[in-house]
Amino acid sequence: MTKRRWLFILGFLCVAGLAVGLYLYQNLVNIDSDSNNYIAEWLNNPASRTELITTHACEDAPFLLPSTGFIGLLYRDVARPYNGLSRHTGIDIFGDGDLGTVPIFAAYDGYLTRLNDWRATVIIRHDDPLIPGRTIWTYYTHMANLDGSVSFIVEDFPPGTTDQFVERGTLLGYQGNYNGGRFDIAMHLHFSIVKSNKDGTFKNEAILRNTLDPSPYFGLPLDLDARATRPIRCKTDS
Ligand SMILES: [Zn+2]
Repeated sequence: MTKRRWLFILGFLCVAGLAVGLYLYQNLVNIDSDSNNYIAEWLNNPASRTELITTHACEDAPFLLPSTGFIGLLYRDVARPYNGLSRHTGIDIFGDGDLGTVPIFAAYDGYLTRLNDWRATVIIRHDDPLIPGRTIWTYYTHMANLDGSVSFIVEDFPPGTTDQFVERGTLLGYQGNYNGGRFDIAMHLHFSIVKSNKDGTFKNEAILRNTLDPSPYFGLPLDLDARATRPIRCKTDS
């Protein structure tokens, strides 16, 4: 091989290395989130709680806030247990109360499904109020106790429920801390907005690109990049 060719390969490797380094820096190091600080405050200092709670979405927003509480992890959050390469796909609302007592409501009119093996989760299909004609889904989870033996989903929606109409504001269940037994979590609702496949079924909500930024649906600054302080509030509320 000629010397020139070697130099070309070396240059290429340097550029590729720099690009990979820059990508990792942008995604793992150069993003901060203060969500874990707020969550620690919420968990360790109950006196702080009333000052962290969000009670409602904006008046003119299509979606109802599905539960009252402290919005701890934001959409696209990188705070633990997430990171820049594996971001949070929804919002986490931490209710103030005992397990199985903080109510969760349907965010919008739609058709509810609970798969046979879902102990703690329901999903609702909607006609997208922001882009009429498009089908989107809202996903609600952690509605059971830690080991999954007690579900906090209301009896109206047993496992196997398919396409049952619910109105905005329908009681779905109560906040729990079930997480598939993977690790301990504090009681909260994980809520996300999930895109549809071409056939109208829901996509895998655990993948960020399959989800939508909930901010415009609530009129609230819920995307990490909005850098909102807590409590999250509607801008038009004083
Ligand atoms: Zn979550």
